[in-house]
Amino acid sequence: MGRHKKPKVGIFGLTGCAGDQLQILNCEDELLELATKVDFVDWVMVRSDNDFNCRLDYAFVEGVVATEGDLERLRKIRARSRTMIAIGTCAVWGGLPTMKNNLQPEVLQREVYARAGGEFLDTVEARPATSFADFDFSIPGCPIERSEFLATIRALLEGTLPELPAIPVCWECKTRENVCRVVYYDEVCCGAMTQGGCGARCPSHGVPCAGCRGPIEEPNYDANITMFAGRRISWKDIARKMSDFSAPVWMTLGLEQEVDREHDDD
Ligand code: SF4
Ligand code: SF4
Repeated sequence: MGRHKKPKVGIFGLTGCAGDQLQILNCEDELLELATKVDFVDWVMVRSDNDFNCRLDYAFVEGVVATEGDLERLRKIRARSRTMIAIGTCAVWGGLPTMKNNLQPEVLQREVYARAGGEFLDTVEARPATSFADFDFSIPGCPIERSEFLATIRALLEGTLPELPAIPVCWECKTRENVCRVVYYDEVCCGAMTQGGCGARCPSHGVPCAGCRGPIEEPNYDANITMFAGRRISWKDIARKMSDFSAPVWMTLGLEQEVDREHDDD
C-alpha cells in the first residue's frame, strides 16, 4: 500500500496583530494531534524551514491588505492554494486596522513614528483580505475562537465545511441570563447585530459587545440605532462604538452625518 500523503497547510498573516495565529498555537494538545494528520509546511510563526512555493491544500490567511506587498502576497497564496480560509475579523471584515482610513497618512506617520515628513510610509487604504481574493470560508473573531478553527480544519479533512453559529451575540447573552447593557445601563452594545459564537464573552464580564465578530446576516441596523438614540446616547458614541471592528460595513450607515449634525447643534 502506498504511503498516504498528508494535506499541506500554510498559515499566513498580512497586516494585523498575529492574534489569530497565536490562537491556533494556543490549541497546544489539539495542534499536536493535528500535526499527525496535516503538514504545516509554510507557517513562519512555528518553523524556519518553510516551503514558500509548494502547492497547498489549505491556506489560512489573517489580516488586512494595508500595503502593496500584502496584496502581492495574498495573490500568491491564492494561486498556490486549493482552499483558502480567512481567519479573524481583520481578514473577514476589516477589523481595527481600518480605523486608520479616517486619518491622513502624514498624521499617522508623525504620531506613530514621531517623524514629520521624511521617508514615505508604505501604506494604502486598509481593507479586508476578503475584498481582494476569493475565499472558500471565513472564521470571524478578534481573535478567532480556537474551537471554530479546530472545527474548520477537522471538517476540511472530512471533505466538508463546518457550520458556524448563525445566531446573534444577544441570543447567547440571554441564555447566560446577563443583565442587558442597553436596557439597564444605556450603553451601546452591538450584541443584536453581531455574529455569535463567543458565548457573549463581553456582556458576561460586564462590558458591552463591541461587535468584534462582525455583523450577523441581515442585521437590523436601523432598529438598533433608533434604540440607542432613543436612550439619549450621543451620535458620536453610537458611531464610534459601531465602527470599531467593521468600519467598512458600519461606516456606510450614514452615522457620520448624524455626528456632524450633532456637532453643529452643540
Ligand atoms: S447586553 Fe448586549 S448582548 Fe446582551 S442582551 Fe443586551 S444588547 Fe444583547
Ligand atoms: S461579546 Fe462582542 S466584542 Fe465581545 S467577544 Fe463577543 S463578539 Fe466580540
